[in-house]
This record gives sequence, structure tokens and C-alpha cells, in this order.
Amino acid sequence: MKVLFSEEQIRKRVEEVAQEIDSVFPHEPPIIVGVLNGAFIFTADLVRSMRSFVEIDFIRASSYGYFAETSGKVKITKDMEKSVLGRDVVVVEDILDSGITLNFIKGWLQKKQPRSLRFCVLLDKKALRKEPFVAEHVCFSIDDGFVVGYGLDYGERYRNLSNIQLLVGEENAKCS
Ligand code: 5GP
Ligand code: MG
Repeated sequence: MKVLFSEEQIRKRVEEVAQEIDSVFPHEPPIIVGVLNGAFIFTADLVRSMRSFVEIDFIRASSYGYFAETSGKVKITKDMEKSVLGRDVVVVEDILDSGITLNFIKGWLQKKQPRSLRFCVLLDKKALRKEPFVAEHVCFSIDDGFVVGYGLDYGERYRNLSNIQLLVGEENAKCS
């Protein structure tokens, strides 16, 4: 395992992105839609760094299997509770990779007719796009490689690491 982003680096960058989003919505606060499970820590930190009184909801999407390979098919396995009709929505996702998951979520949410729809991702793997997708807010861009920690798992493991690490082989990591 190799540390890509430390706890401190993440904290600083998440604060900057939170301010970025705040400045887009100076009047009416948006609904923040976190994508479970990977974005649960990111969403929690992001909203705590925001100054707007946001509303928060979650969806769950599955595209990957239990381990690292993608199945290429996306399913929404948990819907939102709130209506987004006529509201400003910011989707918070862990990783933008092939673009398949976020394109699916985008189409799915657009049918619910929000006033605006933006995407905020912790990590952007630009080089690996299979479908075009641009997220309005990106914390870090990274190259290829499987990452874990800060909410991200490998077979449900490593989510509770405080930093973001590159998984090399299937080593054991100490959760700090
Ligand atoms: P996409 O549809 O963009 O290929 O898939 C993005 C999803 O795949 C992310 O939401 C994330 O759950 C998962 N994913 C992609 N790359 C990684 C990675 O490096 N580590 C982990 N833990 N999940 C990843
Ligand atoms: Mg995900």
C-alpha cells in the first residue's frame, strides 16, 4: 500500500471544494446527494465544511462487483427519500472512472426534474473514461490504479482508513 493523499491533504482540499460549491449557491441551498457506500465519509466531511444549510440525502448505486472488476451495469439499489423537483442538486461520488456510473445517475436524476444538477467527486481517473463525463467539482485527479481508504473499499475492507492509499496486491493495511 502506498499513501496517495494524507489526511491533512484531504482535509484541505475538501474544504476548498466545499467553498467552491457554497459560492455556486449563495441564496438557495442545494440538496446534497451522497452516493453510498464509497462517498459516505467524503459527503460527511464536505457538508461539514460548507456554510450553506444544505439538505442531505443518499442513493446507492452498484456497478462494480464485490471486488475490483466492473460489471458495466449500473443499478440504483437505494432511492432518495426527498423530492428534487425544481431543486438544485449536487451529487457527491467517490470516484469518476469509466463514467458509466455517473452517466447513469445523471440520466436517472434528470428524470426527477431538478432545477440544476452538478457533480462533485473525490477522485477523477480521467484517463480511464469509457463514456465522456465532466464533473464540475473534483478534489484530486489520479492515474490508473486501485485506491482504498476514506470510504473506499476493496471487498468491503479499508473503508475506515483516514487517508487514501493505492492498493498494491492484496496486502493488509493498518487502519489509522
Ligand atoms: P465508473 O462507472 O465510473 O467506472 O465507476 C466508478 C465507481 O467504481 C466508483 O463509484 C467506485 O465505487 C468504483 N471504483 C472505481 N475505481 C475505484 C478504485 O480505485 N477504488 C475503489 N475502491 N473503487 C473504485
Ligand atoms: Mg461508488
